[in-house]
Amino acid sequence: MKYQVLLFDLDHTLWDYETNSRETLIELHEHYKLAEKGILETEFLTAFYRINNELWDQYDRGLLHRDVIRNERFHRIFQTFGLDNYALSLKLSDDYIHQSPQKGNLVEDCVEILEYLQPRYPMVIVTNGFEEIQATKLHSSGIHHFFKSIVTSARAGHKKPAKEIFEFALTESGFQPHQAIMIGDNLLTDIAGAANANIDTVFFNPNGQACPTTVNHEIKALRELMNFL
Ligand SMILES: [Mg+2]
Repeated sequence: MKYQVLLFDLDHTLWDYETNSRETLIELHEHYKLAEKGILETEFLTAFYRINNELWDQYDRGLLHRDVIRNERFHRIFQTFGLDNYALSLKLSDDYIHQSPQKGNLVEDCVEILEYLQPRYPMVIVTNGFEEIQATKLHSSGIHHFFKSIVTSARAGHKKPAKEIFEFALTESGFQPHQAIMIGDNLLTDIAGAANANIDTVFFNPNGQACPTTVNHEIKALRELMNFL
């Protein structure tokens, strides 16, 4: 076998961020009676995804601190509806951060693929995020036991795409870059980051976005990993 260890991204690659956040947002919309404040559920969801993606993209490129996502996300969403209530936006933010990781929806075929891979390779999660939040997601979705270790940016002291977080993961598990392959959905953090650490890459691209970067493999579904791993 060419590879001896698999590095996996968590959000959007294994843990179904989209579905889990949507379920949480629908609950919060209901709980805080946002419809009575003139915010329709579908518009609330659309605004969340647009603003959340913008903030995460800026965070990934090192342009803002993570606390800005936490403190500003719902405030900016409210502002798009002409609602200026910072205290309420912080309540939603706290609830969202607490409740969303407790959702257990996974990307299609995730468990079947991890069951297939586990006897063949040690697997390591490499994720930008806080220890407790990412651990909660792994436990609530029931996939924690598949992984030899969980490397978060908080623990490694560097976040993807910095090569140091990948080096940290390999040093900890006792492998060299040429023995590893990184599987993830983000061209900057997962793919460019791993390539910069001389690690081969699998771009998980379920939505068929344009792929300008050189990747070793591109897959639309996790089950395609069985074709070469
Ligand atoms: Mg991801």
